[in-house]
Amino acid sequence: MTFLEYAPAPESTAILDLKSEYGLFINGGFQPGNGEAFQTISPATEQQISTVSCADEADVDTAVAAARKAYEKTWSKMSGADRGKYLFRIARLVQERSRELAVAESLDNGKPIKESRDADIPLVAAWFFYYAGWADKLDYAGLGSAPRSLGVAAQVIPWNFPLLMLSWKIAPALAAGNTVVLKPAETTPLTALLFAEILQQAELPDGVVNIITGAGATGSALVNHPDVDKVAFTGSTAVGREIARSTAGTAKKLTLELGGKGANIVFDDAPIDQAIEGIVNGIFFNQGQVCCAGSRLLVQESVHDEVVDRLKQRLSTLRVGDPLDKNTDIGAINSATQLGRMRELSDIGEAEGADKWSADCVLPDEGFWFPPTIFTNVSTSHRIARDEIFGPVLSVLTFRTPDEAIAKANNTPYGLSAGIWTDKGSRILAVADKLRAGVVWANTFNKFDPASPFGGYKESGYGREGGRHGLTAYLAPAKTAATSTRPAVKGSSK
Ligand code: NAD
Repeated sequence: MTFLEYAPAPESTAILDLKSEYGLFINGGFQPGNGEAFQTISPATEQQISTVSCADEADVDTAVAAARKAYEKTWSKMSGADRGKYLFRIARLVQERSRELAVAESLDNGKPIKESRDADIPLVAAWFFYYAGWADKLDYAGLGSAPRSLGVAAQVIPWNFPLLMLSWKIAPALAAGNTVVLKPAETTPLTALLFAEILQQAELPDGVVNIITGAGATGSALVNHPDVDKVAFTGSTAVGREIARSTAGTAKKLTLELGGKGANIVFDDAPIDQAIEGIVNGIFFNQGQVCCAGSRLLVQESVHDEVVDRLKQRLSTLRVGDPLDKNTDIGAINSATQLGRMRELSDIGEAEGADKWSADCVLPDEGFWFPPTIFTNVSTSHRIARDEIFGPVLSVLTFRTPDEAIAKANNTPYGLSAGIWTDKGSRILAVADKLRAGVVWANTFNKFDPASPFGGYKESGYGREGGRHGLTAYLAPAKTAATSTRPAVKGSSK
């Protein structure tokens, strides 16, 4: 079959005004870090973008002290309505600078511009708008009247949705009256640093949000700092476990959003055309580097061959390449390390006897790339059915009855997401009820909304982000905090 060829449609980078060096954003200004500065590169070309400062323990201490001071002197004293105004202002500035942020995100992360432009950045703005509306209504957050803010929040985020994860962390924390020290991932610091400029534009009081860059050691120093009251982490289960251990026995409140191995269940009565698009969106969105990806496809045996054939046809039409090209469907893998993990697990899949099929596409010579890949003949004991590959790799398993589908879907140490494809509403409800997953999508996948809580069971972590539930991670009920010296957060009626 011949397909139409697309002429290149590259998005211009002229809108970017990047600095060659970025410092740490502490107390409203940029300052150099004491650690060894590092490069952030484009994963599509391996070209250097900027040099970024690294925060050591002393820098972390300075940032936490700035956040503490801002909490006590400014932010906890401000009315909820006024905090909301800052959040609205930030949301509007994100919208105004959305094209620039989308280009920077695709450059630094490797994701296709159509995703950063149409999904990531609009959702960032939506998150700030949503929590802006909550800032003066905290009495209705579900913790009774006059809930209390916690104080200083230490937030560590991953590289797969850099600015979106920042917004999931910062927007509810500020709405609830806390101040923040946030560390972006070392391979994707760029949009967090542009966001720091947005905070300056918004004239957010100094120290309310501090952004420090660095790798794991910086993150560890931040979450272990004795003067933080709340830790919020998104990333690998291994690091999440370490943080849970180190914060155990302290007064720090902790939320963890970790990995996943989502089951996307296709029943034989499903609308197959829509299901194929949903499967593609479920595992190939953001190159599959999504914690809630539908990385295990469970197909009812009677439609297995049809689904797999049509999936292969569809994958053959996906365009892999330059993330800044508006036609690109699959961009670059974020780092050489991540690509190495994907290759290793894919090799294990073949060695364990599953059948591998990859779309026949020409991959660029430079940069980090992995073709869209499907494994069939997979059994539940295979590593590729159990481990998070975090890449554009789908493992296909079969089932005969709804009970078998549910048993296989739940047969994982994770429990973040799942999908159900069927034309029967009753079956959706019956199956969703039995799935041990924080989010269950029906006849769709990977849909996000700031009003909707998101989070996991089991090794996918605990706590919820988004919606009213996301606020409770940053608040304490009035009565349990009665002995606290901290004031009731403004934005409640008392
Ligand atoms: P990671 O957990 O190592 O990194 C995530 C963030 O934590 C980064 O900002 C990192 O600098 C920081 N960090 C690392 N060590 C830390 C420590 N000891 N204390 C505090 N912070 C620390 O994740 P990774 O190595 O980038 O990716 C590994 C795997 O994690 C992936 O293959 C994937 O399975 C999973 N992952 C999940 C998500 C998610 O959204 N749940 C995101 C990224 C990666």
